[in-house]
Amino acid sequence: MSSPTTTRPASDAARVAQAAREVVEAHDPLSVPREELFGALYDAGLAWVHHPEGLGGLGLSRGLQPVVDQIVTDAGGERMFAVNPIGYGMGAPTVVEYGPDRDQVGAWLRPMATGEEIWCQLFSEPGAGSDVAGLATSAVRDGDEWVVNGQKVWTTLAHVARWGMLVARTDPEQPKHRGLTYFVIDMTQPGVDVRPLRQMTGQAEFNEVHLHDARVLDAHRLGEVGAGWKVAITTLMNERTAIGGVTGRRGSGVIGEALGLWRAHPDRHTPVLRDRLAALWTRAETHRLTLARARRTASAGQPGPEGSVSKLVGAELNQDVYEFCMDLLGPDALLYDDWTMDRGRVHTDPNSTVQQRFLRSRANTIEGGTSEVMRNILGERVLGLPGEPRSDSDRPWKEVPRG
Ligand SMILES: Cc1cc2nc3c(=O)[nH]c(=O)nc-3n(C[C@H](O)[C@H](O)[C@H](O)COP(=O)(O)OP(=O)(O)OC[C@H]3O[C@@H](n4cnc5c(N)ncnc54)[C@H](O)[C@@H]3O)c2cc1C
Repeated sequence: MSSPTTTRPASDAARVAQAAREVVEAHDPLSVPREELFGALYDAGLAWVHHPEGLGGLGLSRGLQPVVDQIVTDAGGERMFAVNPIGYGMGAPTVVEYGPDRDQVGAWLRPMATGEEIWCQLFSEPGAGSDVAGLATSAVRDGDEWVVNGQKVWTTLAHVARWGMLVARTDPEQPKHRGLTYFVIDMTQPGVDVRPLRQMTGQAEFNEVHLHDARVLDAHRLGEVGAGWKVAITTLMNERTAIGGVTGRRGSGVIGEALGLWRAHPDRHTPVLRDRLAALWTRAETHRLTLARARRTASAGQPGPEGSVSKLVGAELNQDVYEFCMDLLGPDALLYDDWTMDRGRVHTDPNSTVQQRFLRSRANTIEGGTSEVMRNILGERVLGLPGEPRSDSDRPWKEVPRG
């Protein structure tokens, strides 16, 4: 007879699969509104299986979430991540770890899971991207509220967001990492001005956000005053895992698209393209298996710097696969003439064209931290190589020269 340690994961997986099948049978993804299906998954603890019970989870290993996702997508449903990527992938773990109280966290999580309340991430600024700890947007305390002024940039989905994860400077006298505080801000209030930024696809899925005397409740602060960098790291670690960490079946995802395109164009096959496709397939499969192994061994805890591996490898693989697709299409790849500004879709839209996906993939090595910065993190935090020289870590932020 097996020991309890060896039988438990298998029975957890079976329990999760059974619960997911029951939800999908009772709320057919093809006939009920998305909110109803996702709400039922949340109530059954299947939105984030690793969350505590009552907060969309069952207190199980996060490695079991793909079991749910697969059952939902096999039945024709969407992935929750695709509907509310920033909320689902990054907001949720941050509010669960640092949220003010269980009632407030639950009140944020359910509409986040159903997609009724979209979330965005207000970190980057014109002078603070890779060095996000250098940000300048200020929050000044006013009784039970904080008054926020500044400018954020590249804010994906801000135009449809109900809530924003905001990191602001609350103490300019402190060195840059120590004077920051993390808030959840209401994006629909006066003083939050969201302006579109168009990408080379023509779409405007992201924005610049100007904050003029916008208000945020102290009750919506995550973590201690001045400890916002620690909270931000939780969001960023999860961002890397979420961006680089989507595992599907063998041959699915972007490499599946490339294979489909290859089969659809037998007239364009050449030995060189065949070799490239074989090499990409091998990379994609190695990436998928590495992710699957990391998921299986993952506990309910937070992802570590290894999230940077999947972010880096996934981003470069995506770009190379879409480059292959464009080369396979040959002159047809140039047929891209629709630059209609589109605010409704995000890059995960299954109806986007190969050309759009190729153009969008250029951002993969920038968004969520650039590949250069991922390599720095891996060098320093995984391989233990000497860190970059840093001159401003101990100086008060207000004394650091800025361009
Ligand atoms: C599609 C897209 C969506 C985004 N969505 C969001 C969002 O929703 N919310 C949000 O807050 N931000 C978002 N961003 C911003 C993104 O996180 C930043 O663009 C990214 O962190 C890089 O910052 P930067 O653009 O300021 O470039 P910079 O930091 O100015 O970097 C410029 C170049 O210098 C390199 N570099 C910088 N520092 C180092 C270093 N120490 N070592 C080696 N090389 C270095 C970089 O790798 C890069 O090549 C998004 C970006 C994109 C492209």
